Amino acid sequence: MVAKLEEAEDALGFASGMAAISAVALTLLEPGDKLVCVKNCYPDAYRLFEVILKRFKINVVYVDGLDLPAINEALYGAKLFYTESPTSWTMEALEVGALAKLAHKHGAFVAIDNSWASPIFQKPIKLGVDIVIHTASKYLGGHSDVIAGVIASSKTMIDKIRDSRLYVGGKLSPFDAWLLIRGLRTLPIRVKAVGESALELARRLSKNPMVEKVCHPGLEKLPDGLIGTTGLFSFVFKENVNIQIFIDALKIFKIGVSWGGHESLILPASIVLQQAAQPNSATDFGVSPRSVRIYIGLEGTENLWQDLSEAINSASEYRR
Ligand SMILES: *Cc1c(COP(=O)(O)O)cnc(C)c1O
Repeated sequence: MVAKLEEAEDALGFASGMAAISAVALTLLEPGDKLVCVKNCYPDAYRLFEVILKRFKINVVYVDGLDLPAINEALYGAKLFYTESPTSWTMEALEVGALAKLAHKHGAFVAIDNSWASPIFQKPIKLGVDIVIHTASKYLGGHSDVIAGVIASSKTMIDKIRDSRLYVGGKLSPFDAWLLIRGLRTLPIRVKAVGESALELARRLSKNPMVEKVCHPGLEKLPDGLIGTTGLFSFVFKENVNIQIFIDALKIFKIGVSWGGHESLILPASIVLQQAAQPNSATDFGVSPRSVRIYIGLEGTENLWQDLSEAINSASEYRR
Protein backbone atom coordinates (compact mmCIF):
# COMPACT_ATOMS: atom_id res chain seq x y z
CA MET A 1 0.00 0.00 0.00
CA VAL A 2 2.76 2.45 0.93
CA ALA A 3 4.72 1.58 -2.24
CA LYS A 4 1.64 2.52 -4.28
CA LEU A 5 1.03 5.72 -2.35
CA GLU A 6 4.68 6.78 -2.75
CA GLU A 7 4.79 5.58 -6.39
CA ALA A 8 7.81 3.45 -5.52
CA GLU A 9 8.65 -0.06 -6.75
CA ASP A 10 8.56 -1.59 -3.30
CA ALA A 11 8.17 -0.85 0.41
CA LEU A 12 9.10 -2.44 3.70
CA GLY A 13 7.62 -2.25 7.21
CA PHE A 14 9.59 -1.66 10.43
CA ALA A 15 9.01 -1.80 14.16
CA SER A 16 9.31 2.01 14.38
CA GLY A 17 10.30 5.07 12.39
CA MET A 18 13.72 5.00 14.04
CA ALA A 19 14.16 1.31 13.11
CA ALA A 20 13.54 2.38 9.50
CA ILE A 21 16.00 5.31 9.69
CA SER A 22 18.71 3.21 11.33
CA ALA A 23 18.24 0.40 8.78
CA VAL A 24 18.87 2.88 5.96
CA ALA A 25 22.02 4.23 7.67
CA LEU A 26 23.35 0.76 8.53
CA THR A 27 22.71 -0.55 5.02
CA LEU A 28 24.40 2.29 3.15
CA LEU A 29 27.21 3.55 5.38
CA GLU A 30 30.56 2.12 6.39
CA PRO A 31 33.53 3.49 8.36
CA GLY A 32 35.06 6.52 6.65
CA ASP A 33 31.87 7.39 4.76
CA LYS A 34 30.40 10.86 4.84
CA LEU A 35 26.77 11.55 5.71
CA VAL A 36 25.34 15.00 4.96
CA CYS A 37 22.23 15.82 6.98
CA VAL A 38 19.99 18.88 7.13
CA LYS A 39 19.98 20.94 10.33
CA ASN A 40 16.96 20.68 12.59
CA CYS A 41 16.37 17.07 11.72
CA TYR A 42 14.26 14.86 13.98
CA PRO A 43 16.07 14.78 17.37
CA ASP A 44 16.43 10.99 17.59
CA ALA A 45 17.82 10.80 14.05
CA TYR A 46 20.35 13.41 15.17
CA ARG A 47 21.23 11.25 18.19
CA LEU A 48 21.57 8.15 16.02
CA PHE A 49 24.05 10.03 13.83
CA GLU A 50 25.91 11.71 16.72
CA VAL A 51 26.03 8.81 19.20
CA ILE A 52 26.00 5.62 17.14
CA LEU A 53 27.25 6.46 13.64
CA LYS A 54 30.13 8.60 14.88
CA ARG A 55 31.27 5.61 16.99
CA PHE A 56 31.60 3.70 13.73
CA LYS A 57 33.79 6.44 12.25
CA ILE A 58 31.17 7.91 9.98
CA ASN A 59 31.73 11.56 9.23
CA VAL A 60 28.48 13.50 9.75
CA VAL A 61 28.12 17.03 8.40
CA TYR A 62 25.05 19.25 8.98
CA VAL A 63 23.87 21.79 6.43
CA ASP A 64 21.25 24.49 6.16
CA GLY A 65 18.67 22.95 3.82
CA LEU A 66 18.00 26.34 2.20
CA ASP A 67 21.66 27.09 1.39
CA LEU A 68 22.29 25.25 -1.88
CA PRO A 69 25.91 26.47 -2.42
CA ALA A 70 26.88 25.28 1.10
CA ILE A 71 25.15 21.94 0.49
CA ASN A 72 26.95 21.57 -2.82
CA GLU A 73 30.28 22.04 -1.01
CA ALA A 74 29.38 19.67 1.83
CA LEU A 75 28.35 16.94 -0.63
CA TYR A 76 31.89 16.40 -2.00
CA GLY A 77 32.71 12.77 -1.25
CA ALA A 78 29.36 12.13 0.48
CA LYS A 79 27.74 8.69 0.44
CA LEU A 80 24.33 9.66 1.75
CA PHE A 81 22.31 12.87 1.89
CA TYR A 82 19.64 12.70 4.59
CA THR A 83 16.86 15.24 4.66
CA GLU A 84 13.46 16.08 6.01
CA SER A 85 11.09 18.58 4.51
CA PRO A 86 9.83 20.50 6.30
CA THR A 87 12.53 20.27 8.97
CA SER A 88 11.63 19.60 12.62
CA TRP A 89 10.55 22.58 14.82
CA THR A 90 11.69 25.28 12.38
CA MET A 91 9.45 23.79 9.66
CA GLU A 92 11.52 25.00 6.71
CA ALA A 93 10.07 23.54 3.51
CA LEU A 94 12.91 22.60 1.17
CA GLU A 95 13.22 22.25 -2.60
CA VAL A 96 13.47 18.45 -2.46
CA GLY A 97 13.85 17.98 -6.22
CA ALA A 98 16.76 20.44 -6.44
CA LEU A 99 18.44 18.86 -3.40
CA ALA A 100 18.13 15.36 -4.88
CA LYS A 101 19.63 16.53 -8.15
CA LEU A 102 22.55 18.13 -6.33
CA ALA A 103 23.23 15.01 -4.24
CA HIS A 104 23.12 12.77 -7.32
CA LYS A 105 25.63 15.01 -9.06
CA HIS A 106 28.03 14.05 -6.27
CA GLY A 107 27.08 10.36 -6.48
CA ALA A 108 25.33 10.33 -3.08
CA PHE A 109 22.16 8.44 -2.25
CA VAL A 110 19.26 10.62 -1.13
CA ALA A 111 16.94 9.65 1.72
CA ILE A 112 14.04 11.75 3.02
CA ASP A 113 11.86 11.50 6.10
CA ASN A 114 8.48 12.24 4.50
CA SER A 115 6.41 11.72 7.66
CA TRP A 116 5.11 15.30 7.89
CA ALA A 117 3.82 15.78 4.32
CA SER A 118 2.70 12.15 3.97
CA PRO A 119 2.48 10.65 0.46
CA ILE A 120 -0.77 12.57 -0.02
CA PHE A 121 1.03 15.93 -0.22
CA GLN A 122 4.59 15.03 -1.29
CA LYS A 123 5.87 12.14 -3.40
CA PRO A 124 9.68 12.35 -3.12
CA ILE A 125 10.42 9.42 -5.48
CA LYS A 126 8.88 11.50 -8.28
CA LEU A 127 11.17 14.35 -7.24
CA GLY A 128 14.25 12.14 -7.68
CA VAL A 129 14.76 10.92 -4.09
CA ASP A 130 16.07 7.33 -3.72
CA ILE A 131 14.63 6.34 -0.34
CA VAL A 132 11.48 7.59 1.39
CA ILE A 133 11.17 6.97 5.12
CA HIS A 134 8.04 7.25 7.28
CA THR A 135 7.34 6.95 10.92
CA ALA A 136 4.01 5.18 10.61
CA SER A 137 3.45 6.03 14.29
CA LYS A 138 2.26 9.42 13.03
CA TYR A 139 -0.07 9.95 10.02
CA LEU A 140 0.07 6.52 8.39
CA GLY A 141 -1.18 4.82 11.57
CA GLY A 142 -3.16 7.91 12.46
CA HIS A 143 -4.81 6.82 15.71
CA SER A 144 -1.94 7.09 18.24
CA ASP A 145 -2.08 3.36 18.87
CA VAL A 146 0.72 1.93 16.75
CA ILE A 147 4.51 2.32 16.66
CA ALA A 148 5.79 1.45 13.19
CA GLY A 149 7.94 2.64 10.32
CA VAL A 150 8.00 2.20 6.54
CA ILE A 151 10.56 2.64 3.76
CA ALA A 152 9.67 3.00 0.07
CA SER A 153 12.32 2.71 -2.65
CA SER A 154 13.47 0.71 -5.68
CA LYS A 155 13.23 -3.07 -5.57
CA THR A 156 17.04 -3.43 -5.46
CA MET A 157 17.39 -1.00 -2.55
CA ILE A 158 14.51 -2.59 -0.60
CA ASP A 159 16.09 -6.04 -1.03
CA LYS A 160 19.35 -4.72 0.46
CA ILE A 161 17.59 -2.99 3.35
CA ARG A 162 15.45 -6.07 4.00
CA ASP A 163 18.61 -8.03 4.76
CA SER A 164 19.81 -5.52 7.37
CA ARG A 165 16.32 -5.38 8.88
CA LEU A 166 16.54 -9.14 9.32
CA TYR A 167 19.95 -9.03 11.02
CA VAL A 168 19.29 -5.99 13.19
CA GLY A 169 15.75 -7.00 14.11
CA GLY A 170 13.47 -4.01 13.55
CA LYS A 171 10.68 -6.01 11.92
CA LEU A 172 7.06 -4.89 11.88
CA SER A 173 4.82 -7.15 13.99
CA PRO A 174 1.69 -8.67 12.39
CA PHE A 175 -0.71 -6.87 14.73
CA ASP A 176 0.94 -3.50 14.10
CA ALA A 177 0.84 -4.18 10.34
CA TRP A 178 -2.89 -4.77 10.68
CA LEU A 179 -3.39 -1.53 12.62
CA LEU A 180 -1.40 0.27 9.97
CA ILE A 181 -3.57 -1.02 7.12
CA ARG A 182 -6.62 0.10 9.10
CA GLY A 183 -5.13 3.59 9.49
CA LEU A 184 -4.05 3.94 5.86
CA ARG A 185 -7.64 3.60 4.64
CA THR A 186 -8.52 7.04 5.98
CA LEU A 187 -5.13 8.75 5.42
CA PRO A 188 -6.24 11.20 2.67
CA ILE A 189 -9.21 12.60 4.56
CA ARG A 190 -7.35 12.78 7.87
CA VAL A 191 -4.33 14.73 6.57
CA LYS A 192 -6.58 17.10 4.64
CA ALA A 193 -8.79 17.78 7.67
CA VAL A 194 -5.94 18.42 10.13
CA GLY A 195 -4.06 20.36 7.45
CA GLU A 196 -6.91 22.82 6.80
CA SER A 197 -7.54 23.31 10.47
CA ALA A 198 -3.82 23.81 11.24
CA LEU A 199 -3.35 26.36 8.45
CA GLU A 200 -6.33 28.39 9.64
CA LEU A 201 -5.05 28.35 13.24
CA ALA A 202 -1.52 29.24 12.08
CA ARG A 203 -2.96 32.29 10.26
CA ARG A 204 -4.90 33.38 13.34
CA LEU A 205 -1.88 32.85 15.61
CA SER A 206 0.32 34.90 13.29
CA LYS A 207 -2.07 37.84 13.83
CA ASN A 208 -2.09 37.44 17.61
CA PRO A 209 -0.17 40.29 19.32
CA MET A 210 1.38 37.86 21.85
CA VAL A 211 2.95 35.73 19.10
CA GLU A 212 6.31 36.75 17.64
CA LYS A 213 6.55 34.24 14.81
CA VAL A 214 4.67 31.27 13.36
CA CYS A 215 6.66 28.55 11.58
CA HIS A 216 4.22 26.90 9.16
CA PRO A 217 5.23 26.21 5.55
CA GLY A 218 1.72 27.07 4.31
CA LEU A 219 2.15 30.73 5.30
CA GLU A 220 4.62 31.10 2.43
CA LYS A 221 4.85 29.78 -1.11
CA LEU A 222 5.26 26.01 -1.06
CA PRO A 223 8.30 24.49 -2.81
CA ASP A 224 7.88 22.39 -5.96
CA GLY A 225 6.37 19.01 -5.23
CA LEU A 226 4.75 19.93 -1.90
CA ILE A 227 1.08 20.26 -2.74
CA GLY A 228 -0.46 20.63 0.70
CA THR A 229 0.26 21.05 4.40
CA THR A 230 -0.64 19.00 7.45
CA GLY A 231 -1.28 19.42 11.16
CA LEU A 232 2.09 20.05 12.85
CA PHE A 233 3.76 23.46 13.17
CA SER A 234 5.44 25.69 15.75
CA PHE A 235 5.27 29.26 16.95
CA VAL A 236 7.32 31.55 19.18
CA PHE A 237 5.76 33.57 22.00
CA LYS A 238 6.78 37.12 22.82
CA GLU A 239 8.56 37.81 26.13
CA ASN A 240 5.42 38.88 27.98
CA VAL A 241 3.69 35.50 27.79
CA ASN A 242 4.21 32.98 30.58
CA ILE A 243 4.45 29.73 28.62
CA GLN A 244 3.91 27.48 31.61
CA ILE A 245 0.62 29.20 32.41
CA PHE A 246 -0.37 28.99 28.73
CA ILE A 247 0.23 25.22 28.67
CA ASP A 248 -1.61 24.66 31.97
CA ALA A 249 -4.58 26.76 30.83
CA LEU A 250 -5.19 24.65 27.72
CA LYS A 251 -8.17 22.32 28.10
CA ILE A 252 -8.26 20.40 24.79
CA PHE A 253 -4.54 20.25 23.97
CA LYS A 254 -2.55 17.67 25.94
CA ILE A 255 1.22 17.75 26.41
CA GLY A 256 2.77 15.15 24.13
CA VAL A 257 5.88 14.46 22.06
CA SER A 258 4.04 12.63 19.29
CA TRP A 259 1.62 13.84 16.60
CA GLY A 260 -0.33 12.53 13.62
CA GLY A 261 -3.31 11.09 15.50
CA HIS A 262 -6.82 12.40 16.09
CA GLU A 263 -6.02 14.43 19.23
CA SER A 264 -4.36 17.85 19.49
CA LEU A 265 -1.02 18.03 21.29
CA ILE A 266 1.31 20.74 22.50
CA LEU A 267 5.01 20.62 23.34
CA PRO A 268 6.96 23.57 24.75
CA ALA A 269 10.56 23.75 23.53
CA SER A 270 11.71 24.20 27.13
CA ILE A 271 10.93 20.49 27.80
CA VAL A 272 12.95 19.39 24.78
CA LEU A 273 15.82 21.78 25.52
CA GLN A 274 16.15 20.31 29.01
CA GLN A 275 17.48 17.08 27.54
CA ALA A 276 20.87 18.80 27.45
CA ALA A 277 22.86 15.80 28.70
CA GLN A 278 22.47 14.07 25.33
CA PRO A 279 23.16 15.41 21.85
CA ASN A 280 20.17 17.54 21.09
CA SER A 281 19.33 18.95 17.69
CA ALA A 282 16.99 21.54 19.27
CA THR A 283 19.82 22.95 21.43
CA ASP A 284 22.51 22.56 18.80
CA PHE A 285 20.51 24.27 16.07
CA GLY A 286 19.15 27.09 18.21
CA VAL A 287 15.44 26.36 18.71
CA SER A 288 14.13 29.24 20.86
CA PRO A 289 13.13 28.37 24.45
CA ARG A 290 10.04 30.51 23.78
CA SER A 291 8.99 28.20 20.96
CA VAL A 292 6.00 25.87 21.22
CA ARG A 293 5.28 22.96 18.89
CA ILE A 294 1.63 22.35 18.20
CA TYR A 295 -0.23 19.48 16.58
CA ILE A 296 -3.78 20.07 15.40
CA GLY A 297 -6.09 17.08 15.64
CA LEU A 298 -9.69 16.53 14.62
CA GLU A 299 -11.51 18.33 17.46
CA GLY A 300 -12.68 21.18 15.18
CA THR A 301 -11.01 24.48 14.29
CA GLU A 302 -13.30 26.73 16.34
CA ASN A 303 -13.07 24.63 19.52
CA LEU A 304 -9.30 24.61 19.22
CA TRP A 305 -9.12 28.34 18.54
CA GLN A 306 -11.23 29.09 21.60
CA ASP A 307 -8.92 26.92 23.72
CA LEU A 308 -5.77 28.54 22.31
CA SER A 309 -6.94 32.14 22.48
CA GLU A 310 -8.29 31.80 26.03
CA ALA A 311 -5.03 30.19 27.19
CA ILE A 312 -2.98 32.94 25.52
CA ASN A 313 -5.12 35.59 27.23
CA SER A 314 -4.69 34.09 30.68
CA ALA A 315 -0.95 33.59 30.12
CA SER A 316 -0.39 37.18 29.05
CA GLU A 317 -2.04 38.60 32.20
CA TYR A 318 0.86 37.22 34.21
CA ARG A 319 3.95 39.12 33.30
CA ARG A 320 7.31 37.84 34.42
C1 LIG B 1 8.31 10.49 15.51
C2 LIG B 1 9.21 10.72 14.37
C3 LIG B 1 10.17 9.76 13.99
C4 LIG B 1 10.42 8.51 14.78
O1 LIG B 1 9.37 7.64 14.73
P1 LIG B 1 9.13 6.42 15.75
O2 LIG B 1 8.12 5.61 15.05
O3 LIG B 1 8.65 7.04 17.02
O4 LIG B 1 10.44 5.74 15.92
C5 LIG B 1 10.92 10.02 12.86
N1 LIG B 1 10.78 11.15 12.15
C6 LIG B 1 9.88 12.10 12.48
C7 LIG B 1 9.76 13.32 11.65
C8 LIG B 1 9.09 11.92 13.61
O5 LIG B 1 8.22 12.88 13.97
